[in-house]
Amino acid sequence: MERFTRILRRLSDEYPEIPSMLQYRNPFELLIGVILSAQTTDEQVNAILPELFKRFSDANSLAAADHSEVESIIHSVGFFRQKARSIIGTAAALVREFNGQVPHTMADLVSLPGVGRKSAGVILLHIYDEPAIIVDTHFGRVARRLGYTTARDPLRIERDVAAVLPREYWNSASMRLNYHGRRYCFARKPACPSCPLNDLCPSREPAQDGTT
Ligand code: SF4
Repeated sequence: MERFTRILRRLSDEYPEIPSMLQYRNPFELLIGVILSAQTTDEQVNAILPELFKRFSDANSLAAADHSEVESIIHSVGFFRQKARSIIGTAAALVREFNGQVPHTMADLVSLPGVGRKSAGVILLHIYDEPAIIVDTHFGRVARRLGYTTARDPLRIERDVAAVLPREYWNSASMRLNYHGRRYCFARKPACPSCPLNDLCPSREPAQDGTT
């Protein structure tokens, strides 16, 4: 744990502010944004969100939406038919089960169509400031290279990290390991020689001159 907290301190110095990737103005917009962002980039989702929320600004209006109209708005994000079903279904569930509001527990969030643990974690962390370990491809890769898991399965990665890191650090780890994976710890060619975690990382690659 001591090494993990040193890593997080180092990453906090490196990335004091993590820019928000998805644009949103309220919990409903973030929830819909994270559902749409599966298997696509946040930039592509941000490009269609203004039109979507201009037309459907809350759970009630989206729950009553015509599927083909939603599909035509979100067409560019990929898997648009399935995603249209998910966001309309989620909006209907919000109206039916949660009085039109976004719930604030993991169990309730993952009961919504198209919402897995990763998406639920994003809501818990960014909206409700609840502890969440958000495992995506970047987080998993960096956690493995830093030696905190050997797993590929997101739930096992989450459990492995939770076992060694106190809850008060979960949100910092979620944001900063993810961001570090985008900035230095690339999948194909990690930038180990210039990485700020170089001296703390068991997976660092040798520098060009043979030093580590
Ligand atoms: S030293 Fe290399 S493998 Fe380790 S965290 Fe940094 S970039 Fe990733």
